Amino acid sequence: MTVRVRFAPSPTGMFHVGGARSALQNWIYAKQQGGVFVLRIEDTDAARNKPEWTEGILSALDWIGISRGSYEGPYFQSANAAEHRAAAARLYESGRAYYCDCTREDVQARTGSQYQGYDGYHRDRGLGPGPGHALRFRTPDEGATVVVDLIRGEPTFENKLIEDFVIARGDGSPVFLLANVVDDMTMGITHVIRAEEHLPNTPKQQLLWEALGVKPPIWAHVPVVVNEKRQKLSKRRDKVALEAYRDEGYLAGAMRNYLMLLGWAPSGDREIVPWSVIENEFRLDEVNLSSAFFDEKKLRAFNGEYIRALPVTEFIDACQPWLTGTGTIPPPPWQPEEFDADAFAAVAPLAQTRIAVLSEIVPNVDFLFLASPLIDEAAWTKTMKDGSAELLDDAVAAFEALESWDAESLKSTLEAVGAERGLKLGKTQAPVRVAVTGRTVGLPLFESLEVLGRERTLTRIRAARLRLV
Ligand code: GLU
Repeated sequence: MTVRVRFAPSPTGMFHVGGARSALQNWIYAKQQGGVFVLRIEDTDAARNKPEWTEGILSALDWIGISRGSYEGPYFQSANAAEHRAAAARLYESGRAYYCDCTREDVQARTGSQYQGYDGYHRDRGLGPGPGHALRFRTPDEGATVVVDLIRGEPTFENKLIEDFVIARGDGSPVFLLANVVDDMTMGITHVIRAEEHLPNTPKQQLLWEALGVKPPIWAHVPVVVNEKRQKLSKRRDKVALEAYRDEGYLAGAMRNYLMLLGWAPSGDREIVPWSVIENEFRLDEVNLSSAFFDEKKLRAFNGEYIRALPVTEFIDACQPWLTGTGTIPPPPWQPEEFDADAFAAVAPLAQTRIAVLSEIVPNVDFLFLASPLIDEAAWTKTMKDGSAELLDDAVAAFEALESWDAESLKSTLEAVGAERGLKLGKTQAPVRVAVTGRTVGLPLFESLEVLGRERTLTRIRAARLRLV
């Protein structure tokens, strides 16, 4: 039997990191089993779906390595509406489902206002189809539904506790529970690996599989991803969109490595491992049952390590979208013609060891390309103290006299300027840094001045000096 798994997102918003993790788990499982990964877009909720969300899912999957053309699909659930309706009709004709026109108020009036479920009123009343008649599944009165779950063992649900749930609405349209099952069935899905939040649906869905006469799949419900307060990550409160991480400059390799560590770890106390190791070692049955904390700080640290591991030429290439502004990444503060690729290449190795996400490249190098630096006023006020004006005067004079404009000479020169005033290098270089880059932190100063060049460095220090008059 060929293993067939699927990832079945609903295109109702940005692509959630938890979804990306389920997709990767499915992807790896299919690969390990020599199986097939199917992508199905569950787009039947016309009011909430938008085509751009579908495109976002496809491109985000592509980014983390589930590339277009390397899986089966995408299929669109909306294209299978006829099969969904046919299945509903079959369940009705075989007596496994019946029509019901009760409103919630009807049920509550009969059963007491607290009652949340359905009381089976129409089970044997023979109501036929008609406008406003929902189709309900007749759940067995006895026995239990045992779900075979690769992560959870065999969760068992007593059938008498499962109400006769709706499978098609009053307008005849099948609901998620049924459409999802029918699609899995027609697509020959053997393993359903999905988020834990669907576990309450699973006994109902398994009953549908059985009623439709097909052996149910094997299930695997992976624990939810939570924030630092142990709340399920929510798109309203938390940063959950994979695209947002991509645009901030997380590397796809770091992201997918990190996502796979949510609830699982490779052997040997390692966390940062090549993808091939994850593909070999990952075991669905080793995934933790407890919810997984999505720790953005840790992800940042991870990403920094991935950035540092890049060959410098690849780092330079990886920075390009932030240096030019492409797609949803905003343009940098300089004009395209101001950018100097050689100057960037000269400082790139310095930046590579300092940034944790690629978008941080921009504030680190903008001083090189802008005609005058963007002065951070708070940094200015904090740094420019009594004596700064004279110090800058001395720095200009000393730098003007420099024969060789290189980092080492610049450093010893400024060190000497400070020493005359009894200042350590750190204190001496702070006003110079703010004058030249506009900021208190950034790339190593003397290397930066070397790349910036004598003229521009002196112009900037003189301009800062004038502001201090
Ligand atoms: N469309 C459903 C969701 O995004 C899929 C559930 C499933 O994987 O079965 O939650």
